[in-house]
Amino acid sequence: MSLSYVHPSPESPWGTYLMQVDRVIPYLGSLAKWAETLKRPKRSLIVDVPIELDNGNVAHYEGFRVQHSLTRGPGKGGVRYHPDVTLEEVMALAAWMTIKNAAVNLPYGGAKGGIRVDPKQLSLKELERITRRYTSEIGIIIGPHQDIPAPDVNTNAQVMAWMMDTYSMNVGATATGVVTGKPLHLGGSLGRVKATGRGVFVTGREAARRIGLNLDGARVAVQGLGNVGSSAAELFAQAGGKIVAVQDHTGTIANAQGLDLADLMPHVKASGGVAGFQAAEAIDNEAFWDVPCEILIPAALEGQIGAERARRIKARLVLEGANGPTTQAGDDTLADRGILVVPDVICNAGGVTVSYFEWVQDFSSFFWTEDEINLRLDKILVGALKNIWDTADRHKITLRTATFAVACERILTARQERGLYP
Ligand code: GLU
Repeated sequence: MSLSYVHPSPESPWGTYLMQVDRVIPYLGSLAKWAETLKRPKRSLIVDVPIELDNGNVAHYEGFRVQHSLTRGPGKGGVRYHPDVTLEEVMALAAWMTIKNAAVNLPYGGAKGGIRVDPKQLSLKELERITRRYTSEIGIIIGPHQDIPAPDVNTNAQVMAWMMDTYSMNVGATATGVVTGKPLHLGGSLGRVKATGRGVFVTGREAARRIGLNLDGARVAVQGLGNVGSSAAELFAQAGGKIVAVQDHTGTIANAQGLDLADLMPHVKASGGVAGFQAAEAIDNEAFWDVPCEILIPAALEGQIGAERARRIKARLVLEGANGPTTQAGDDTLADRGILVVPDVICNAGGVTVSYFEWVQDFSSFFWTEDEINLRLDKILVGALKNIWDTADRHKITLRTATFAVACERILTARQERGLYP
């Protein structure tokens, strides 16, 4: 029986996730008996987040923290601030964290949080108040050994510093391990800010090598120029790639000769987005999906690539920097057209992998160099992707279903070995 409290559509994040689980069940053997576990979040907390605005009024916001699975370890996953956040979306994002953490074999379950708010409408002080109140409200289920939040859409190291401070004040001791993605002076890790984008690059580089695509001269289109998209674009450009189109919430720009990121990034910082950038042509948002390119990186939000856009995409390789950018119908269309997708649950796992390094460093109070971080990250992702690729070849399935197969075998074996309580 499906859950009574959500009503997923085939295009919605939770609906997409449920179909992804259904696809993997035939490859789970006797573990399939436990598969229903994956379709039910272990624990979902909905909180009211009231804050006093700068003008003296009181505003209320909806806050969520979903712990999808705690089978393999504490909950782990980011917190996003966005006006479209819903319980159902956070459930899917938490579930994808469970799969992602298991796919790279991190000793975590999966969790995610969010506040339904447009942070661009808040002052810095209001942002701090909403963060602190939200942290206090979810304080009953997070902790360095329970559930460890991190940055996601519209949250950053400063937000993590406020979360760490609020939690620490409430428990009466500095608890650096309660969140990752913190500033360096508060137990943060070198390499964490760019880790997700670096992971997109590393998995993309490996995938490109396997399909005989040369990164030198490859045309790259990027949707979303936040933390993930900008870091990935930078690394592809360094490897000789040409960034031919970029889309963000302000518009879409294209330049067949390649955009110069050294000029574009200061423009984005100063003006808030790509719109108005001189050394490029402004194109229609929908035309982004028709841009001739070899590599397409959706690095924004969910549900961007449905069947219709999937029919138009020109790329050979789609690297999912975002979580859940492709619907099941979109995925099937891309597969039918022979376009290779490196799925979110391995492609963007670099962020949480370095979050894990941060957490380990906080507990041991011994910090690694940036080279050590980047080398270990590279090694873990290359190894995980090879395992996934072998699984895909063995069963003749997509990389997404193969990633789910590798991850679900780990999760459900642990589930079976732990057994049911009582
Ligand atoms: N928000 C990131 C993700 O979706 C990172 C989560 C983490 O570091 O815990 O993977």
